[in-house]
Amino acid sequence: MAILDGWTRCPRCTTELEREDGHLRCPGCGSTYYANSAPCVSALVEDPERGVLLARRAVEPDLGLWDCPGGFLEEGEHPLDGLRRELLEETGLTPGPARFVGIWMDVYGDAPDAAATLNMYWAVRAEGEPVPADDVAELRWFPVGALPAPDELAFTTVEHALAAWVAEQEPRAY
Ligand SMILES: [Zn+2]
Repeated sequence: MAILDGWTRCPRCTTELEREDGHLRCPGCGSTYYANSAPCVSALVEDPERGVLLARRAVEPDLGLWDCPGGFLEEGEHPLDGLRRELLEETGLTPGPARFVGIWMDVYGDAPDAAATLNMYWAVRAEGEPVPADDVAELRWFPVGALPAPDELAFTTVEHALAAWVAEQEPRAY
């Protein structure tokens, strides 16, 4: 329950919270607080000539490392709407049809109370030239055989997602 570790009192009525299996319960007002993983969406923007588009992070955590464009879903937002919104915010690109690649679990940063994340990845193609914006310092295309080293990648999920994406490309390389 890392994300709820510092919670001692109910944010609604200030009664002392009781710790139960995987959640906190307030005996005062009956509220229950769950420690779910935060859902995130990311795009593997692919191009037959240039490879995959990665974004150098302009913010912590993992400032300066290579990430896939993406981010946290908003409340009630469909994951594919979130994917489209994040890609537009960070690159100016509008994605075409999305091909699901996989889901990987991670943690957002190194803090003891860092949020657990559930990371969904789709491969997409997009017309036009990407322009870095929002929390992205730089965008660069990486050929399948020349991806950044693992220690240059943000988080652990980016490495897993790229490996899955590369495995999908291999039949085309022969
Ligand atoms: Zn309460």
